[in-house]
Amino acid sequence: MKTVEIDEGSGFCFGVVNAIQSAEKELAADKELYCLGDIVHNSQEVARLQEKGLRTINHEDLKNMHNKRVLLRAHGEPPSTYETAGQNAIRIIDATCPVVLQLQRKILKHYKEIDPVNSRIVIFGKIGHAEVNGLVGQTAGKAIVIEKIADLDLLDFSKNIYLFSQTTMSVHDFKEIVAGIQTRIHKGSDFRYFDTICRQVANRIPHIREFAARHDLILFVAGEKSSNGKVLLGECIKANANTYLIASPDDIHPQWLENVESAGICGATSTPKWLMEDVARKIELL
Ligand code: SF4
Repeated sequence: MKTVEIDEGSGFCFGVVNAIQSAEKELAADKELYCLGDIVHNSQEVARLQEKGLRTINHEDLKNMHNKRVLLRAHGEPPSTYETAGQNAIRIIDATCPVVLQLQRKILKHYKEIDPVNSRIVIFGKIGHAEVNGLVGQTAGKAIVIEKIADLDLLDFSKNIYLFSQTTMSVHDFKEIVAGIQTRIHKGSDFRYFDTICRQVANRIPHIREFAARHDLILFVAGEKSSNGKVLLGECIKANANTYLIASPDDIHPQWLENVESAGICGATSTPKWLMEDVARKIELL
């Protein structure tokens, strides 16, 4: 192997950095700290913070706890979470990413202003994803979530449609959804769309394509639950068919390295730099 390169554009985005720094600061003050859901979609980073005391809980656990400190991760939460915390005297450490917070406020504002009978809030995103649950929560559960172009069949085009996007969706797919609605919306119905995709992910796409194209082998390091990981992995595969998704150095198959002159290592906004460095060390040992 001649070269192993870690993509300098991969790794935590500022929203994830902020959440992890908040957790580390709180853990330094007091070891008892809970996080609602995995702090990041990366089990290795979750394990590192668990060793420092961070414990992951779910919404059911939250309902049954009192007088504790609970960190809300970058994905954000629906209003019901804040209500439960208030009822149970739970101190919230709110690490919701500012970009997500702004999107939540925008959806809430539109939800309050629109005519509920003739208008629909539509969110392009992954059903059940934590960020999407937080967004749907701004509309008291009324927003319709669509994941793909075929889901347009779920919409009533005789209603006004206000379309938003989960922050980590593909810009290309969002444009397709917009075009699909524009062709089907009925005359007299209003259609407005808001490109609320975070450029922390979108801006990485041209760079990661170029990075993937100039190596013989690409190891994309990410957790399976990472939404932006799926988008960025898809771009790597398009640019270089010899791309593999791995969660840790243990997933590397030595035969992948046969006849490989240059290997590139990259990842999602939830992939820690230290993990990509571990992957590079493992390749150099094989
Ligand atoms: S991808 Fe963007 S919106 Fe999501 S946590 Fe990172 S900075 Fe925030």
